[in-house]
Amino acid sequence: MNSNRRDFLQFAALAAAGWAFPKAVSAATTPPHVVVIGGGFGGATVAKYLKLWGGNIDVTLIDRAASHYACILSNLVVTGALPMDRINLSFDSLKTKRGVNVVQGEALSVDPSAKEVVVNVGGTTYAYAYDKLVLAPGIEFINPAGNYNDQLTPHAWKAGPQTLLLKNQLASMTKGQTFVMTIPKAPYRCPPGPYERACSVADYLKRKVKNGKIIVLDANASIQAEPINFGNAFTKTYKGILTYVPNATVNEVDSSAKKIITAAGTFNANVLNVIPNQRAGRIVTAAGLANDATGSWSTVNPLNYASTVHPDIHILGDSQATGQPKSGHMANSQAKVCADAIIRAFNGEEPDPNPVTSSACFSPITSTTAAWLTASFQYDPVSKTMKRVDASFAEAAKPTSDGMKQMFQWANNIFADSFV
Ligand SMILES: Cc1cc2nc3c(=O)[nH]c(=O)nc-3n(C[C@H](O)[C@H](O)[C@H](O)COP(=O)(O)OP(=O)(O)OC[C@H]3O[C@@H](n4cnc5c(N)ncnc54)[C@H](O)[C@@H]3O)c2cc1C
Repeated sequence: MNSNRRDFLQFAALAAAGWAFPKAVSAATTPPHVVVIGGGFGGATVAKYLKLWGGNIDVTLIDRAASHYACILSNLVVTGALPMDRINLSFDSLKTKRGVNVVQGEALSVDPSAKEVVVNVGGTTYAYAYDKLVLAPGIEFINPAGNYNDQLTPHAWKAGPQTLLLKNQLASMTKGQTFVMTIPKAPYRCPPGPYERACSVADYLKRKVKNGKIIVLDANASIQAEPINFGNAFTKTYKGILTYVPNATVNEVDSSAKKIITAAGTFNANVLNVIPNQRAGRIVTAAGLANDATGSWSTVNPLNYASTVHPDIHILGDSQATGQPKSGHMANSQAKVCADAIIRAFNGEEPDPNPVTSSACFSPITSTTAAWLTASFQYDPVSKTMKRVDASFAEAAKPTSDGMKQMFQWANNIFADSFV
């Protein structure tokens, strides 16, 4: 095992060893009510652990969908290697095993002074009162200029129908055709994800589409994650198939013509996969909580993920602006810190002063091999920020078939830890 990988695992284990469970909220009190918006990796995990650790707490989890389609592994659905069912995560265990009240509805607005969130449930609006509100709505897209239409040029960056649209478009490619994809300006959901998609699509073209080509238009100046593995894949494994173009800021998209104008030139595609720039989920912006310097993400206290504007509203996962990567593993990790801190707050206690979080991403490089990336973060009391633990930051030396096996084990673990 690579020494940095060992450091990552040892650091995570030691950090967990130094932490004690929060005291459960007493059954003698009226149960406080936590409302969670968004049942993805952040929201599902915080709902589960509030019930698991919290004792006498009522938890309502609200998601617009009946189940959650994970983005994790979704690039393999795009290439047809996995069925959609593999990434469909049910809320049933959260209901039956954990006692979470799960509601299918769209959160529309938040009233922080009344401590209420307004939700559209099947066409009727209801106000849900909360003692603490957790917002974990993931991301929203900043659509590019032009006649952009995500039904014609799918992003497939929120899993579900978009994943199937892109899968079908890829499957329809024939001899000599070109797949063009964009990589958004950082920060965006899943730093290695777009490069992973480029590799998965290139591998598919290599195997199934004679003389098929992929052009990767990156708005950033260089590869944003796993530069060794993706760099090698782009220049060696997919030489002659994949063209990587940095500094390709998107100026305009014509979805009907499948044409894209960028700072690095104009490109025509047979399949055009535009992954737009991103910001916090819409409910966060609607609540006035996208308050970082760019107005895109939410500033929070990393000891408890409380908003710096309204301390009874917690924001975690992709929507927050702590500088930690926007990954499902990280959303799961932050959710545990948040659940712990909320339970302590209900008991009149301060949050754990030394939280640790971690993130792992596994990336298929070919249909039989995968690479990985790990990082842990620790609270720095001086700067009051989460700082990356350098010894934990590593990428795989090379993609391997073992990496592919570990990827499926890791995905099973993170799916179960968040949803079961
Ligand atoms: C192709 C790809 C590959 C990836 N691979 C990895 C990987 O290997 N490892 C990894 O750790 N991460 C990976 N990620 C990143 C990961 O999917 C995200 O970082 C993670 O899902 C973020 O969790 P979240 O809880 O913030 O948001 P999400 O998981 O997106 O959950 C948000 C939920 O909120 C709901 N919602 C939003 N707004 C509302 C509203 N107003 N009312 C009701 N419900 C609402 C949505 O329906 C959704 O279910 C990948 C992402 C992509 C796109």
